Amino acid sequence: MSYQCPVCGYDRMSESPKDFAICPCCGVEFGYDDFECSHSELRSQWISKGMPWFSQYTLAPQNWNPYLQLAQIPQSASSEKSEGDPVFISVNVGNTRRIIEAADFNGSVAGHLQLLSTGNLDLEFRC
Ligand SMILES: [Zn+2]
Repeated sequence: MSYQCPVCGYDRMSESPKDFAICPCCGVEFGYDDFECSHSELRSQWISKGMPWFSQYTLAPQNWNPYLQLAQIPQSASSEKSEGDPVFISVNVGNTRRIIEAADFNGSVAGHLQLLSTGNLDLEFRC
């Protein structure tokens, strides 16, 4: 049984994301880090750090792609505790900048991102 991290979208957590389980990908400790910060806030923090792989014991999957992983977060998880303000993501690809709403980012944009992520992709969350 594996579980998906609601912060970064990593879907091979060995424990359910609660009761002090730590996501090996983003390093969030559930029941602790998400006590004061919402999952979307924690996600923004992780993204602003450059989406580093957290664990030294659990290695990142081969061909790990944090952009695609983020796109796989179910909408219900990503909008949890959001205070109503839409979260916008700006995607810079070369000279092109796209601003997309985080709600649109999930799923529907995944295929597009797969295309983009082969280039020089710069992604940031804005609240
Ligand atoms: Zn995570």
